[in-house]
Amino acid sequence: MSEQLEKLKEQLMEIDNLRSAAALLYWDQATYMPPGGATARGQQIATLNRISHEKFTSDRMGELLEDLAWYELESPYDSDEASLVRVTRLKYEKAIKVPSDFMAKISNHSAASYQAWTKARPANDFSTMLPYLEKTLELSRQLADFYPGYEHIADPLIDRSDEGMKAEQIRLIFSELRSKLVPMVNAITNQIATDVSCLHGDFPEQDQFQFGNMVIKQLGFDFNRGRQDKTHHPFMTKFSINDVRITTRSKDDDISESLFSTIHEAGHAFYELGINENFNATPLGSGTSSGIHESQSRLWENIVGRSREFWEFFYPKLQSAFPGQFDSVPIDQFYKAINNVERSLIRTDADEVTYNLHVMMRFDLELDLLVGQLAIKDLPQAWNERFRSDFGIVPTDDSNGVLQDVHWYSGTIGGAFQGYTLGNILSRQFYDRATQTHSEISTEIANGKFDTLQNWLREQIYRHGSKFTPNELIRRVTGNELSIEPYIRYLWGKYGQLYQL
Ligand code: ZN
Repeated sequence: MSEQLEKLKEQLMEIDNLRSAAALLYWDQATYMPPGGATARGQQIATLNRISHEKFTSDRMGELLEDLAWYELESPYDSDEASLVRVTRLKYEKAIKVPSDFMAKISNHSAASYQAWTKARPANDFSTMLPYLEKTLELSRQLADFYPGYEHIADPLIDRSDEGMKAEQIRLIFSELRSKLVPMVNAITNQIATDVSCLHGDFPEQDQFQFGNMVIKQLGFDFNRGRQDKTHHPFMTKFSINDVRITTRSKDDDISESLFSTIHEAGHAFYELGINENFNATPLGSGTSSGIHESQSRLWENIVGRSREFWEFFYPKLQSAFPGQFDSVPIDQFYKAINNVERSLIRTDADEVTYNLHVMMRFDLELDLLVGQLAIKDLPQAWNERFRSDFGIVPTDDSNGVLQDVHWYSGTIGGAFQGYTLGNILSRQFYDRATQTHSEISTEIANGKFDTLQNWLREQIYRHGSKFTPNELIRRVTGNELSIEPYIRYLWGKYGQLYQL
């Protein structure tokens, strides 16, 4: 291997060390740090992020990449060397387009806006957030304008989390999906409501936590390379290829929240833990996009974790872990309860069928805001109108409406939401592909065996890390473009049976 390539890897390792240290500080802040540490912690994280950004956008990095450009011409496109140089170069070229003082401006504004939102949401006070959001919108547009030549102003913002995806491509897919989902939701919610009382009872936090750990261990989570802790908002983060952290939260009277968030975050962790070890501490060493990442968390949470087969294995274990709670609940009643479909106000609580309607309305509103068709001051009204037309109900107040998600209040407007629905669509497209090759997968799930599925996902998706863009990866894995057909077929099949449609 050339000396220059070794030098590049050394530089990238140093940058990755700084980023991992920042991630660890953030994890500690969200899990164990006493509240008094917040101010200093914010500064510490900001310092590490600034230094790693400076190192990554340095002239030295530019020179190294220039010296290594021949790898891209002479090595095969999917070779590790050419991919490392290509992916690092593309990230570098994008990073140097935005001046670091502008990034600092966005990050300071986000922190202030987030602070204000943590008070405004419980107070149901949108008016306080109005000036913050107007500034966020202005900064989001300016950020997009550092990448001139886009087709849609949202494209550069989408590209930050779902590289190469375009607003137009996503809008077409989403409007098709919406046209299929709205009648499905209507057909289901016209039925008699499902009895979900079996999900409520007395479930001590520690027992839920232990049960969740047992489940993900069975799925293949390696506790020598990861751990789970408790937080206010569940997330996954990574400090190295051999150290991945997930978090969960629970309610003592509800069995489902902690369990499914644990499986969801474990899905993210499986992706990161399955990446080729040689990519560690380089830009190839993490999942390729938010949509592909979400496809894995959703595949494990919903397609596997909410399936009848999965509970054939785990239901007896649940019954004995919580004595007295499920004794008189037949498995089918439990299965129906964890797949209950209802029109609800909050995205993060939504079921598989309605969830995407929440995401798509946010995506459309973002585009309207970015192109100037919608003003921030009219956003709550636009939110409520769209909600009425998609869900047939109107939010009781802004805290359960336009104020509910942190994304617009702590980041940019644009690029934040599409990944969730892309992930749902892809979860089924990938899963169908896996079961076409390995028809034994669903029988194995019913017997608590998950290695065939894990191995297939690792081989096809995980090990590549960021080597391929999402569109490239989808083509390689499925032989097709992104398509909603498998997902719609899955929803009609599963919910058609559950609700006798
Ligand atoms: Zn997720």
